[in-house]
Amino acid sequence: MIFRIIKKTELEKLFNVLSDENRIIGPVEVGRDQDSQAIYGFRDVADFRQLALDYTTTSLPAKKYFLPYKEDMATFRIDGKDWQKTVDYNIDAPFVFFGMHACDINALNKLDKVLMGSVYPMPYYAAKRQNAFIIGIDCEPQTYCFCRSMGADTVLHGFDMFITDLGNRYFVEIQSDTAYNLLKKVRAEEPLESDHVEYMHVISEKKKKFTAQVDTTDLTKILDMEFQSDVWKQWGEKCLGCGTCANVCPTCYCYSIEENVRIDLKAANKNKILYSCNLIDFAEVAGGHNFRPERHSRLKYRYYHKHRGFVEAYEESLCVGCGRCGEACLADITVPEVISSVRGETS
Ligand code: SF4
Ligand code: SF4
Repeated sequence: MIFRIIKKTELEKLFNVLSDENRIIGPVEVGRDQDSQAIYGFRDVADFRQLALDYTTTSLPAKKYFLPYKEDMATFRIDGKDWQKTVDYNIDAPFVFFGMHACDINALNKLDKVLMGSVYPMPYYAAKRQNAFIIGIDCEPQTYCFCRSMGADTVLHGFDMFITDLGNRYFVEIQSDTAYNLLKKVRAEEPLESDHVEYMHVISEKKKKFTAQVDTTDLTKILDMEFQSDVWKQWGEKCLGCGTCANVCPTCYCYSIEENVRIDLKAANKNKILYSCNLIDFAEVAGGHNFRPERHSRLKYRYYHKHRGFVEAYEESLCVGCGRCGEACLADITVPEVISSVRGETS
């Protein structure tokens, strides 16, 4: 990996160079909560001053730009005996993601494995992923962040460059040729030994700030042993089956397909809609049989997919510990609490 140091003023220049020709998406403040704390979201950004680079976790993840909640997969037109199918991967230009946290980049890396690296890659996702230039940025751990437990507080690939705030300058990690060449357009210097030392100090101070955690030791084994545990029923009684957790999760990718035929039968379209395994009809099949009619069993399977099945398939969890699901859940169900209770540490 190649490293550089840039002054903070150079970052704005970098933004301007990129914004001349590209759509830029970045973190901005979108409102305030009842405690007057800022709420952040990813939006199109036209001016560097709109960016909130010191943002805390956005309510919705970056996933929506790569895996939209609703997407047309194909449209059909029928004219007499002729019919035409049009497939649009819904990508028209490269775009820049300016300021993505490590957990969200790690989430995309996990989605890549399923949606690009499996037997049936998803071209709709791949087209967007390969068209994105990603600038990662370091962050301050919040009380709900347990990314460190999930090994997602740092990231080694899946971005073009990653910047870490060293006070009056940024420490830049370069991962792609595009980023290397882009940095030639601003003043970037080779880091000194003192920059390395300061970078390591910043990283080590960050580690100390994590408060939430999940013990993943032997977790797959414990989940196998606790499959019939009453713990799942207890959480199921609290769960509202609303699906919000999957909606805000950067790694949930389950979807359903909807086909709509125009009333005159001359046109149709096929949509992909992100779905949640917590919704009541997720496991309902033709004929009306529902394999998971109870909330507790749906909640349980969400946890087994993230922390058991995915680990078996890819040797890593499908959770990056961003804490979004716990923050958004109206029933106050959080991953650290659920896992801790399954481990028998809390009741
Ligand atoms: S765990 Fe929370 S957010 Fe998820 S479905 Fe249940 S109530 Fe909704
Ligand atoms: S399960 Fe919750 S904590 Fe884990 S990645 Fe999804 S939203 Fe984040």
